[in-house]
Amino acid sequence: MPRQVDVAIIGAGTAGLTAIKEIKNLTKNYLLIDRGPLGTTCSRVGCMPSKVLLQVAHDLSRVKVLKALNIYQGDGTIDLSEAMKHVRKLRDYFVNFAVEEIKEMGDHFIQAEASFLSPGRLKLDNGEEVEAKAIIIATGSSPVIPKEWDKFKDRIVTTDSLFELKTLDKSWAVIGMGPLGLEMGQAMALLGCDVHGFDKNPMLGGLKDEIVHSEALRSLQKSFPIHLKADVKLSRIGSKIRVSWGDQHRDVDRILAAVGRKANVGSLNLKAARCPLDEKSLPVFDPDTMKVKDAAIFLAGDMDGQKMVLHEAADDGRIAGFNALQEHPIRFKRKVKIGITFSSPNLCTVGQSLKDIKEPVAIGEVSFTKQGRSVIMDENEGMLRVYADKKTGLILGAELAAPSGEHLAHLLAHAIGQKQKVQELLRFPFYHPTVEEGLRTALRKAKKQLYCKVDPGPDLDRCDA
Ligand SMILES: Cc1cc2nc3c(=O)[nH]c(=O)nc-3n(C[C@H](O)[C@H](O)[C@H](O)COP(=O)(O)OP(=O)(O)OC[C@H]3O[C@@H](n4cnc5c(N)ncnc54)[C@H](O)[C@@H]3O)c2cc1C
Repeated sequence: MPRQVDVAIIGAGTAGLTAIKEIKNLTKNYLLIDRGPLGTTCSRVGCMPSKVLLQVAHDLSRVKVLKALNIYQGDGTIDLSEAMKHVRKLRDYFVNFAVEEIKEMGDHFIQAEASFLSPGRLKLDNGEEVEAKAIIIATGSSPVIPKEWDKFKDRIVTTDSLFELKTLDKSWAVIGMGPLGLEMGQAMALLGCDVHGFDKNPMLGGLKDEIVHSEALRSLQKSFPIHLKADVKLSRIGSKIRVSWGDQHRDVDRILAAVGRKANVGSLNLKAARCPLDEKSLPVFDPDTMKVKDAAIFLAGDMDGQKMVLHEAADDGRIAGFNALQEHPIRFKRKVKIGITFSSPNLCTVGQSLKDIKEPVAIGEVSFTKQGRSVIMDENEGMLRVYADKKTGLILGAELAAPSGEHLAHLLAHAIGQKQKVQELLRFPFYHPTVEEGLRTALRKAKKQLYCKVDPGPDLDRCDA
């Protein structure tokens, strides 16, 4: 006799756990299923351990700044195995929160792998069966390793295994210069490893604005050589792996494969769910309701193959959880797009890309080379470009490679979300000396290009207006 529940959630990651927060308001009869290891991708192998390693690397680079100025007189020796221990210690700290949350669920949680038997029925690998009025698939994603690299697996790590290394090898090829590859490549380079980065694409870190990209590349190349448009081939040379591209090659101790992630759907037997599948064999769904077409199935998180970032996974979970038991699912507007690579400088994309904007566009830009606070921080690199509708001044998007860019990106995302115009955002305070003053410069330049009438004079509201 299958266990009967209102909602079954497959996957106790960020999306699944967030879905439960909404489901609890609707029913007490729900079941969360996860095959383990528990603790969420974010905490175990994702956002958190990667940012700990980056933090250590950036802190060390601050020490190097002081050393170059003769202010710090130490010899700068570092212990990489201690760095990796620190990563794991903080990782365990974060994982523990998620594991505790799951433990507190008691009978609402089963550790097992789930697959579909029929549209509303799941088989668990512990022999149990579950029948649910609605099923949320929140099974996450996993790193891709190209098939042809199978024979080099002993020398290849992904972000799933990187943080388990006791220490970091001397020489590395990081293949894939998206956010994950860039962050880890720069971290290892700043920690003293000999790192080369490769990508077959012409642009890195998800940037689309060629001007911002060329500034980003110039700056990042100071940490480690980056080879773009490089379609690499691997071969074995003794204990090393030879990475060949064009007529060049480099022999390295280890490869970090950061070439993308794929949805975890292989073990789900989706055919039995009898829902329509797209060309990537993922269920066809509405991103505003998270509901799969013609089925009482909802998707949430990385597995939907859309934006693989944490806050989107959490929003997916909220929407799926809320809609799971609604007679007519409610459509929710998705938030302003934002992407951050936590390299130095931060690379950020916000709202629409320049290529996507149809309206005549005003582009305000600022270089951080001479920007006051950035100079003080010794991080005076990069460029910000903000895009606004020339006719109205409405802020539409931005790309930046900037010191503290993560904060600028949030400010811009909130402004776009509130439908602010360039001339309106300028009326808010910009404290001195901050990196935000750079954004003000860019906004002022955009304002000058607007077709619409803007009040002359200072960027302040008039008392009699
Ligand atoms: C190195 C790295 C750095 C990152 N950095 C950032 C960052 O800085 N900022 C950001 O926003 N995002 C970042 N991300 C992305 C972010 O971590 C993910 O978007 C998010 O964790 C996805 O959550 P999820 O719930 O979809 O999946 P997960 O947390 O992976 O949860 C899926 C769960 O499903 C379970 N499961 C799978 N199949 C089955 C099955 N058949 N039966 C039962 N259980 C199953 C798995 O065991 C897993 O526990 C990073 C990712 C990585 C890898």
